[in-house]
Amino acid sequence: MTAAASVHAMAMDPNVDPRLHFEIVTRCLCGGELRDGPIWGWGICPTCGTWVNTKRPTRESLHIVYGETYWTTTQELAGCPPLEQRFEADAKDRVPSFIKALEPFLKEPSTICELGCGNARLLHELKTRGHDVVGTEFDIGVIERMRRLTDVKLIQGDSDLFDDASFDAMISIDVLEHTHDPVAFLREHVRLLRQGGILLLKAPVHDDPAEPYKYTVGMMWKLYHLYLFSRRMIEDVIVSAGFEIVTSDPKVLGHRFYILRKRETAASETHQQDE
Ligand SMILES: [Zn+2]
Repeated sequence: MTAAASVHAMAMDPNVDPRLHFEIVTRCLCGGELRDGPIWGWGICPTCGTWVNTKRPTRESLHIVYGETYWTTTQELAGCPPLEQRFEADAKDRVPSFIKALEPFLKEPSTICELGCGNARLLHELKTRGHDVVGTEFDIGVIERMRRLTDVKLIQGDSDLFDDASFDAMISIDVLEHTHDPVAFLREHVRLLRQGGILLLKAPVHDDPAEPYKYTVGMMWKLYHLYLFSRRMIEDVIVSAGFEIVTSDPKVLGHRFYILRKRETAASETHQQDE
């Protein structure tokens, strides 16, 4: 490898990106003091059973983690196929499970948003069913790649792009475990949903603290998964944010996901806490 190529490769590898900063985490979201797990870099909460990434990128570093290298180098390092391949594969192996769980709760047509929509295949299928959909991603390169595959409205940015009570339904698949503050992330969904609005939520959740031993190397990879939730923890997060659980029964590829409803009182509770 030439010196120039070597410098380029370094710049594209998120593990050695000099702009990234890390911080040490010693406590779980529930307040429990973490015990060193047997897998390096993961602490396990003795109180609630959640696995916590004990050396995580700082909040200020997240825009680099999820910038241009995330959907290229990072996904490749974690053994995930490229977006274009996932756009095809997702239509067969997971989207039907999500549609089946969500559709009974959608009026026609519904306004639907997914923050961090990745390959956008679920939004694409919902659009073909007549719904008014929008997705967000941080990186314009990803959005440009997806625009070659779908005419779904894709916006670069985050939840602050949208007004309160903009949507009938929202989708969040494999994003919550990447956030520093999962309650705040779900509260943003409460803010953006109309009263009674529905959220389809999927994140890694285990009933038994030993389950993550069966997870893939990609799931455990240190940089970007910040939490592997115990069922008790994720359901505490869900309720604290202002949702009620409609069902926790649906599964996709063997993994549980949730259909949630914005509680009638959720907006005023959030308002009172802000005061
Ligand atoms: Zn805990």
